[in-house]
Amino acid sequence: MSGVAMAYAVTAALANVVGALAVTTGARWSVRALDRMLAFAAGFLLSVAFVDLLPEAYARSGRTGAMVVLGSFLLVHFTQHTIGRHFHFGEERHTVSRMTSGSALIGLLLHTFVDGVAVASGLIVSPAVGALVFAGVVLHKLPEGLAISSLFLASGASRQAALGAAAALGVATILGVALTDQIASLQTYGMAISAGVTMYVGASNLVPELQKRGGWETPLSFLAGCGAYFLARWAL
Ligand SMILES: [Zn+2]
Ligand SMILES: [Zn+2]
Repeated sequence: MSGVAMAYAVTAALANVVGALAVTTGARWSVRALDRMLAFAAGFLLSVAFVDLLPEAYARSGRTGAMVVLGSFLLVHFTQHTIGRHFHFGEERHTVSRMTSGSALIGLLLHTFVDGVAVASGLIVSPAVGALVFAGVVLHKLPEGLAISSLFLASGASRQAALGAAAALGVATILGVALTDQIASLQTYGMAISAGVTMYVGASNLVPELQKRGGWETPLSFLAGCGAYFLARWAL
Protein backbone atom coordinates (compact mmCIF):
# COMPACT_ATOMS: atom_id res chain seq x y z
CA MET A 1 0.00 0.00 0.00
CA SER A 2 1.46 3.41 -0.92
CA GLY A 3 1.95 6.09 1.71
CA VAL A 4 -0.93 8.15 0.29
CA ALA A 5 -3.27 5.16 0.24
CA MET A 6 -2.30 4.34 3.82
CA ALA A 7 -2.88 7.94 4.95
CA TYR A 8 -6.29 8.05 3.22
CA ALA A 9 -7.27 4.67 4.70
CA VAL A 10 -6.37 5.62 8.26
CA THR A 11 -8.00 9.09 8.04
CA ALA A 12 -11.21 7.57 6.65
CA ALA A 13 -11.23 5.00 9.44
CA LEU A 14 -10.69 7.70 12.07
CA ALA A 15 -13.62 9.67 10.62
CA ASN A 16 -15.89 6.73 11.49
CA VAL A 17 -14.63 6.84 15.07
CA VAL A 18 -14.93 10.65 15.34
CA GLY A 19 -18.55 10.39 14.14
CA ALA A 20 -19.19 7.81 16.83
CA LEU A 21 -17.54 9.94 19.53
CA ALA A 22 -20.09 12.69 18.84
CA VAL A 23 -22.79 10.28 20.02
CA THR A 24 -20.99 8.38 22.77
CA THR A 25 -19.72 11.53 24.47
CA GLY A 26 -23.21 13.04 24.26
CA ALA A 27 -22.04 16.20 22.46
CA ARG A 28 -25.40 17.37 21.15
CA TRP A 29 -24.02 20.22 19.05
CA SER A 30 -21.76 17.87 17.12
CA VAL A 31 -24.60 15.40 16.58
CA ARG A 32 -26.60 18.23 15.00
CA ALA A 33 -23.61 19.36 12.94
CA LEU A 34 -23.01 15.85 11.61
CA ASP A 35 -26.68 15.56 10.80
CA ARG A 36 -26.37 18.66 8.64
CA MET A 37 -23.34 17.10 6.96
CA LEU A 38 -25.51 14.29 5.59
CA ALA A 39 -26.87 16.42 2.76
CA PHE A 40 -23.49 17.93 1.90
CA ALA A 41 -21.85 14.49 1.89
CA ALA A 42 -24.63 13.10 -0.32
CA GLY A 43 -24.11 15.87 -2.90
CA PHE A 44 -20.36 15.34 -2.97
CA LEU A 45 -20.58 11.55 -3.05
CA LEU A 46 -23.14 11.39 -5.86
CA SER A 47 -21.09 13.85 -7.92
CA VAL A 48 -18.00 11.66 -7.54
CA ALA A 49 -20.04 8.58 -8.49
CA PHE A 50 -21.59 10.09 -11.63
CA VAL A 51 -18.69 12.17 -12.90
CA ASP A 52 -15.64 10.07 -11.94
CA LEU A 53 -16.48 6.52 -10.87
CA LEU A 54 -18.99 5.59 -13.60
CA PRO A 55 -16.98 6.82 -16.62
CA GLU A 56 -13.79 5.26 -15.22
CA ALA A 57 -15.59 1.96 -14.59
CA TYR A 58 -16.81 1.89 -18.21
CA ALA A 59 -13.41 2.91 -19.55
CA ARG A 60 -11.65 0.17 -17.57
CA SER A 61 -13.97 -2.73 -18.15
CA GLY A 62 -16.63 -1.75 -20.73
CA ARG A 63 -19.93 -3.62 -20.82
CA THR A 64 -18.74 -6.11 -18.20
CA GLY A 65 -17.98 -3.12 -15.97
CA ALA A 66 -21.52 -1.84 -16.52
CA MET A 67 -22.87 -5.23 -15.42
CA VAL A 68 -20.67 -5.10 -12.31
CA VAL A 69 -22.02 -1.60 -11.52
CA LEU A 70 -25.60 -2.89 -11.68
CA GLY A 71 -24.71 -6.09 -9.82
CA SER A 72 -23.06 -4.13 -6.99
CA PHE A 73 -26.04 -1.76 -6.76
CA LEU A 74 -28.40 -4.74 -6.51
CA LEU A 75 -26.18 -6.53 -4.01
CA VAL A 76 -26.31 -3.61 -1.57
CA HIS A 77 -30.07 -3.46 -2.00
CA PHE A 78 -30.27 -7.20 -1.36
CA THR A 79 -28.10 -7.09 1.78
CA GLN A 80 -30.10 -4.20 3.20
CA HIS A 81 -33.32 -6.14 2.71
CA THR A 82 -31.98 -9.35 4.20
CA ILE A 83 -29.12 -8.86 6.68
CA GLY A 84 -29.07 -5.18 7.58
CA ARG A 85 -32.80 -4.50 7.37
CA HIS A 86 -32.83 -1.63 9.77
CA PHE A 87 -30.27 0.81 8.59
CA HIS A 88 -30.59 4.49 7.90
CA PHE A 89 -28.27 7.44 8.20
CA GLY A 90 -29.07 9.97 10.92
CA GLU A 91 -29.29 9.42 14.64
CA GLU A 92 -31.28 6.45 15.92
CA ARG A 93 -34.09 7.77 18.09
CA HIS A 94 -36.13 4.67 18.86
CA THR A 95 -35.26 1.45 20.67
CA VAL A 96 -34.04 -1.43 18.51
CA SER A 97 -33.05 -5.02 19.29
CA ARG A 98 -29.47 -6.32 19.51
CA MET A 99 -30.23 -8.47 16.50
CA THR A 100 -31.06 -5.31 14.56
CA SER A 101 -27.91 -3.43 15.47
CA GLY A 102 -25.69 -6.50 14.94
CA SER A 103 -27.09 -7.23 11.51
CA ALA A 104 -26.90 -3.56 10.50
CA LEU A 105 -23.22 -3.69 11.43
CA ILE A 106 -22.62 -6.72 9.18
CA GLY A 107 -24.36 -4.97 6.26
CA LEU A 108 -22.37 -1.79 6.86
CA LEU A 109 -19.07 -3.68 7.09
CA LEU A 110 -19.57 -4.71 3.45
CA HIS A 111 -20.32 -1.12 2.45
CA THR A 112 -17.34 0.31 4.35
CA PHE A 113 -15.06 -2.32 2.80
CA VAL A 114 -16.14 -0.93 -0.58
CA ASP A 115 -15.47 2.63 0.70
CA GLY A 116 -11.86 1.46 0.95
CA VAL A 117 -11.94 -0.26 -2.46
CA ALA A 118 -13.24 3.02 -3.94
CA VAL A 119 -10.38 5.07 -2.49
CA ALA A 120 -7.75 2.59 -3.72
CA SER A 121 -9.40 2.35 -7.16
CA GLY A 122 -9.50 6.13 -7.44
CA LEU A 123 -5.77 6.25 -6.69
CA ILE A 124 -5.13 3.71 -9.46
CA VAL A 125 -6.78 6.11 -11.96
CA SER A 126 -4.91 9.23 -10.82
CA PRO A 127 -3.90 11.11 -7.64
CA ALA A 128 -6.66 13.68 -8.36
CA VAL A 129 -9.44 11.08 -8.71
CA GLY A 130 -8.09 9.34 -5.60
CA ALA A 131 -8.28 12.61 -3.66
CA LEU A 132 -11.85 13.31 -4.84
CA VAL A 133 -13.05 9.82 -3.90
CA PHE A 134 -11.28 10.11 -0.57
CA ALA A 135 -13.03 13.44 0.15
CA GLY A 136 -16.42 11.91 -0.64
CA VAL A 137 -15.65 8.95 1.60
CA VAL A 138 -14.42 11.01 4.56
CA LEU A 139 -17.43 13.37 4.41
CA HIS A 140 -19.99 10.59 4.75
CA LYS A 141 -17.91 8.60 7.21
CA LEU A 142 -18.60 11.05 10.03
CA PRO A 143 -22.39 10.60 9.82
CA GLU A 144 -21.81 6.89 9.13
CA GLY A 145 -19.95 6.49 12.44
CA LEU A 146 -22.70 8.45 14.15
CA ALA A 147 -25.41 6.24 12.62
CA ILE A 148 -23.89 2.90 13.68
CA SER A 149 -22.95 4.01 17.20
CA SER A 150 -26.36 5.55 17.87
CA LEU A 151 -27.97 2.34 16.58
CA PHE A 152 -25.81 0.37 19.04
CA LEU A 153 -26.73 2.65 21.93
CA ALA A 154 -30.40 2.38 20.97
CA SER A 155 -30.12 -1.41 21.22
CA GLY A 156 -28.84 -1.11 24.79
CA ALA A 157 -25.15 -1.62 24.01
CA SER A 158 -22.47 0.10 26.07
CA ARG A 159 -20.59 3.17 24.88
CA GLN A 160 -17.50 1.04 24.36
CA ALA A 161 -19.42 -1.37 22.15
CA ALA A 162 -20.88 1.55 20.18
CA LEU A 163 -17.40 2.97 19.63
CA GLY A 164 -16.11 -0.50 18.81
CA ALA A 165 -18.75 -0.89 16.09
CA ALA A 166 -17.61 2.35 14.45
CA ALA A 167 -13.97 1.28 14.78
CA ALA A 168 -14.85 -2.02 13.07
CA LEU A 169 -16.23 0.00 10.12
CA GLY A 170 -12.93 1.87 10.03
CA VAL A 171 -10.95 -1.37 9.99
CA ALA A 172 -13.10 -2.70 7.11
CA THR A 173 -12.28 0.47 5.16
CA ILE A 174 -8.53 0.00 5.71
CA LEU A 175 -8.90 -3.63 4.60
CA GLY A 176 -10.68 -2.47 1.44
CA VAL A 177 -7.77 -0.19 0.55
CA ALA A 178 -5.15 -2.84 1.42
CA LEU A 179 -6.83 -5.72 -0.42
CA THR A 180 -7.38 -3.70 -3.62
CA ASP A 181 -3.59 -3.46 -3.71
CA GLN A 182 -3.30 -7.26 -3.51
CA ILE A 183 -6.19 -8.68 -5.52
CA ALA A 184 -6.05 -8.33 -9.31
CA SER A 185 -9.82 -8.62 -9.90
CA LEU A 186 -10.39 -5.80 -7.39
CA GLN A 187 -7.99 -3.66 -9.42
CA THR A 188 -9.96 -4.41 -12.59
CA TYR A 189 -13.50 -4.17 -11.22
CA GLY A 190 -12.96 -2.08 -8.09
CA MET A 191 -14.08 1.07 -9.91
CA ALA A 192 -17.28 -0.61 -11.12
CA ILE A 193 -18.05 -2.07 -7.68
CA SER A 194 -17.42 1.34 -6.08
CA ALA A 195 -19.65 3.10 -8.62
CA GLY A 196 -22.58 0.73 -7.98
CA VAL A 197 -22.22 0.82 -4.19
CA THR A 198 -21.63 4.59 -3.99
CA MET A 199 -24.67 5.30 -6.16
CA TYR A 200 -26.75 3.12 -3.87
CA VAL A 201 -25.42 4.73 -0.71
CA GLY A 202 -25.90 8.24 -2.12
CA ALA A 203 -29.19 7.87 -3.92
CA SER A 204 -30.94 5.14 -1.92
CA ASN A 205 -29.60 5.62 1.62
CA LEU A 206 -28.73 9.30 1.92
CA VAL A 207 -31.22 11.06 -0.38
CA PRO A 208 -34.37 9.41 1.11
CA GLU A 209 -33.10 10.48 4.54
CA LEU A 210 -32.86 14.07 3.29
CA GLN A 211 -36.31 13.98 1.76
CA LYS A 212 -37.82 13.46 5.21
CA ARG A 213 -36.55 16.87 6.27
CA GLY A 214 -38.39 20.09 5.64
CA GLY A 215 -37.04 23.57 5.01
CA TRP A 216 -34.43 24.87 2.61
CA GLU A 217 -31.30 24.11 4.56
CA THR A 218 -31.13 20.47 3.47
CA PRO A 219 -31.58 20.91 -0.31
CA LEU A 220 -29.16 23.85 -0.22
CA SER A 221 -26.43 21.88 1.52
CA PHE A 222 -27.05 19.01 -0.92
CA LEU A 223 -26.34 21.45 -3.78
CA ALA A 224 -23.42 22.92 -1.85
CA GLY A 225 -21.94 19.40 -1.69
CA CYS A 226 -22.15 19.15 -5.50
CA GLY A 227 -20.65 22.63 -5.80
CA ALA A 228 -17.77 21.75 -3.47
CA TYR A 229 -17.06 18.69 -5.62
CA PHE A 230 -16.73 20.79 -8.78
CA LEU A 231 -14.56 23.34 -6.96
CA ALA A 232 -12.26 20.55 -5.73
CA ARG A 233 -12.18 18.97 -9.18
CA TRP A 234 -11.24 22.28 -10.75
CA ALA A 235 -8.56 22.95 -8.10
CA LEU A 236 -6.92 19.49 -8.43
ZN1 LIG B 1 -34.22 3.70 13.10
ZN1 LIG C 1 -19.38 4.53 3.83
